Amino acid sequence: MEELHEAAIAYYNNAPRDLQRLAWNFYLALDTDGDGRVSYAEYVKFLQQSYGWIRPNFFMDLDRNRDGSLDFWEVLTLYYVVKTRGGVWCQGCQACLVGLYFSCVACFDSSSRSYDLCPACYKRKRFTHQHNYFLDNHVLLRAKRGLPPGFTNALAPRPAVYPSAAMGDDGLMEAFQALEMGLAADKSRSCSIM
Ligand SMILES: [Zn+2]
Ligand SMILES: [Zn+2]
Repeated sequence: MEELHEAAIAYYNNAPRDLQRLAWNFYLALDTDGDGRVSYAEYVKFLQQSYGWIRPNFFMDLDRNRDGSLDFWEVLTLYYVVKTRGGVWCQGCQACLVGLYFSCVACFDSSSRSYDLCPACYKRKRFTHQHNYFLDNHVLLRAKRGLPPGFTNALAPRPAVYPSAAMGDDGLMEAFQALEMGLAADKSRSCSIM
């Protein structure tokens, strides 16, 4: 949540004046009784009118100082979510995905509809899908311009023999090698960026 808030402020600070004014207009439109705060009732009324995909209890996340109402900066985070997160749903639990989530790489690259999962559903394998290679949205973005060397190695099939000079022979590196080999062997069944 803190990341969303920081992102919203960063975009706002770098936005042209007319876009900043739109954000303020959004805030004023939500504050229907004009008391300078957006109450839970005003927030819910707004969701019912146009953004039913946002959970009502998202209000508690937005209300960072827990004073029971939203100030401009808290509403700015809502504005950012409304503008950037519409239509991204978890295929496991149907939650709206506003933070980090996982996407099927094959669907992302080839079909018009992406297949996305919240971290909890992906972790607990609460989904059935014909593809099994998922990346989180941060790594997926980086992958679009070529993965850094570490990730390239991580995603490629493992070499059968590791260069022993680089690894040394202490227990830690042996354990690390064993982990890497294990992940490589597991690659065909489950996908991991590690
Ligand atoms: Zn889910
Ligand atoms: Zn897929």
